Amino acid sequence: MHPTVPAAEGTRSVTATDGPHHVLVLNSGSSSVKYQLLDMRGGARLASGLVERIGERTSRLVHTPLATGSPARERVAPIADHAAALTAVAGELAADGWGLDSPELAAIGHRVVHGGQHFTEPTVIDEAVLAEIERLIPLAPLHNPANLTGIRTARELRPDLPQVAVFDTAFHTTMPEAAARYAIDAATADAHRIRRYGFHGTSHAYVSRRTAELLGKDPSEVNVIVLHLGNGASASAVRGGVCVETSMGLTPLEGLVMGTRSGDVDPAVVFHLKRVAGLDTDEVDALLNKRSGLVGLCGDNDMREIRRRIDGGDAAARLAFDVYVHRLKKYVGAYYAVLGRVDAVAFTAGVGENAAPVRAAALDGLAGLGLVVDEELNAVRGGGPRLISPAHGRVAVAVVPTDEELEIATQTYALVRG
Ligand code: ADP
Repeated sequence: MHPTVPAAEGTRSVTATDGPHHVLVLNSGSSSVKYQLLDMRGGARLASGLVERIGERTSRLVHTPLATGSPARERVAPIADHAAALTAVAGELAADGWGLDSPELAAIGHRVVHGGQHFTEPTVIDEAVLAEIERLIPLAPLHNPANLTGIRTARELRPDLPQVAVFDTAFHTTMPEAAARYAIDAATADAHRIRRYGFHGTSHAYVSRRTAELLGKDPSEVNVIVLHLGNGASASAVRGGVCVETSMGLTPLEGLVMGTRSGDVDPAVVFHLKRVAGLDTDEVDALLNKRSGLVGLCGDNDMREIRRRIDGGDAAARLAFDVYVHRLKKYVGAYYAVLGRVDAVAFTAGVGENAAPVRAAALDGLAGLGLVVDEELNAVRGGGPRLISPAHGRVAVAVVPTDEELEIATQTYALVRG
């Protein structure tokens, strides 16, 4: 018997009565697999884990059996490929009594990065869906192949089990054309599927809905600006529960300053780097994606370290912080204009949930727009969704922890329960 585990907050009203009620969420990267097993009778987490450095001699698996409260199990040993990784994960889950053959397992939910214009909803995976995800590889050359490998492996292990793809882009497919189109030659754009897709959609969907809940309103009643500030960072404008604008574009490179990505630059920077600095395409790609953003400006991409350096009087760290916050504030202003009326600004992900100075600085001077951060509330650490605006604030400012795995599990379960 497994102990009863408390329900997590934030699950929608998908109520299971009988039948299988566990969902395994898989997030397959090029050399890693992250997973969580959730009980959808309330959303409690039963187990979570990570396999990293797949294909190397020092592959590492860490499995945490959350439901039993037993300590995490870690092993470092070569894991050759995703099939071996998933088999190892299945073994760890089985040791807890929840193997992939468990009758309680209702479905596997897979995070898939790019769903293009085709996938606007979570989708039960079949051969046609796999073919379409494959067709989208040119738009996400690093992510979609890894996601596909994870899906194929899971299907081999449990061919009879419903498996669902939940796309990072899906929430943004409601963006109007005026927001989704780049102002470039239309025929060229269409021929190469160049448009703004947006990413982090699962998080933006979850956080915007949770923000409405925090305000005691239905999502259809509120307009929210969501600021997802992790190592990758993106903003979205959500009108009545529907995404109308987001800051990432064809790829996750556009928009906010991120840990290692530049966000917005003049596209001519690319020509300049190629023609004048002599970089080739891959070098420009690596520069803008891996050696820019906070790390490019000051050598660190962890906001905690940047704050420590600022406290010690470090000018480069100060500038990196200022560039980061300046961009963020510009997006808040832009999305305010897009929405016309804003009910809440919600901060989420590693930086958004933890870095009070970023939240304060991003909204500093915006009292004229009704945006005020209460210093004391902003300084409170941890906890669930909470308001950090003063009681009289015209616009709610909130910290809303994201939970992409719960959202993937919720969407997966809703789909397979019908
Ligand atoms: P990912 O995009 O990899 O999912 P996360 O959402 O976990 O990233 O965010 C990771 C980032 O959050 C770290 O790089 C760090 O900058 C920031 N972060 C985490 N904890 C704190 C903290 N206590 N204070 C400030 N920043 C933090």
